[in-house]
Amino acid sequence: MTQKSTPSEVRLKRPLRWQVGTLAAVRQETPRVKTLTLSLPEWIPHRPGQHYDVRLTAPDGYQAQRSYSIASEPERSGEIDLTVELLEDGEVSSYLHQVLREGDQVEVRGPIGGYFVREAAIGGPLFLVAGGSGVVPLMAMIRHRAAAGSRVPTRLLFSSRSAEEIIYAGELEALQAAQDGLEVIHTLTRSQPTGWRGYARRIDRPMLAEAIAPLGDAPWTYVCGPTLLVESVANLLVGLGLPTDRIRTERFGPTGSPE
Ligand SMILES: Cc1cc2nc3c(=O)[nH]c(=O)nc-3n(C[C@H](O)[C@H](O)[C@H](O)COP(=O)(O)OP(=O)(O)OC[C@H]3O[C@@H](n4cnc5c(N)ncnc54)[C@H](O)[C@@H]3O)c2cc1C
Repeated sequence: MTQKSTPSEVRLKRPLRWQVGTLAAVRQETPRVKTLTLSLPEWIPHRPGQHYDVRLTAPDGYQAQRSYSIASEPERSGEIDLTVELLEDGEVSSYLHQVLREGDQVEVRGPIGGYFVREAAIGGPLFLVAGGSGVVPLMAMIRHRAAAGSRVPTRLLFSSRSAEEIIYAGELEALQAAQDGLEVIHTLTRSQPTGWRGYARRIDRPMLAEAIAPLGDAPWTYVCGPTLLVESVANLLVGLGLPTDRIRTERFGPTGSPE
């Protein structure tokens, strides 16, 4: 016997269509990272943590496609922010950084993903762990949390190479200063400014134990960054006794640059 689908089920099953976005604004976040604001003719509200695919097509028909997390909160309609790190010899990231100009068009498809997502209404507490540009989907969660007026206890442990390379540094500081339950803990792995009082090493077991302690036994935990960082952090969290069903991970790269 066949069952009829409701209209909403039909909509969910329909494959996502490519659409042409327009680059509305560019913001330099750090020396190697830019945020691109794309206005979309078919904007769909996303879930914080989801991503878009970007597809480039050369005049000879050659295509390259990569995924980029949505940095903006779903409360901002009509456009999305993608925050892209420039990789040496990176095919797509170098095009997005060095060729694409305001007013140019770019093909995108999304929002995609139903696992590495978090709405403020679900509650917490939340433990977020990021390496470099892995902070992007976590920033969407943090921005959404603020936009929704959530006060769920949330801690972000954020590993960057140096102070200059901290993505969203100013905004994170301002959000933390609002004292609504968000705390940001930085570690700088390669160089630290004079008088630096944060961590100064790669994320390890004692650092995770200290950072997670105020959140109780089993906070919802999201880890994102280079593959090596994500795997190491996930293993350490399991070793610390965090239930595996509380840990969600997203890997950005094949090997990733060491943080
Ligand atoms: C779900 C998802 C979300 C993502 N979100 C973001 C995001 O928000 N911002 C962002 O900057 N990137 C993000 N990425 C990574 C992105 O999709 C690309 O892999 C990255 O931009 C490299 O593409 P490229 O064409 O420039 O480099 P490529 O030409 O593919 O690779 C160039 C060189 O860099 C290495 N490399 C490839 N990817 C990475 C990486 N991520 N880290 C370090 N080295 C790498 C390759 O091994 C190669 O040596 C995401 C990936 C996934 C799967």
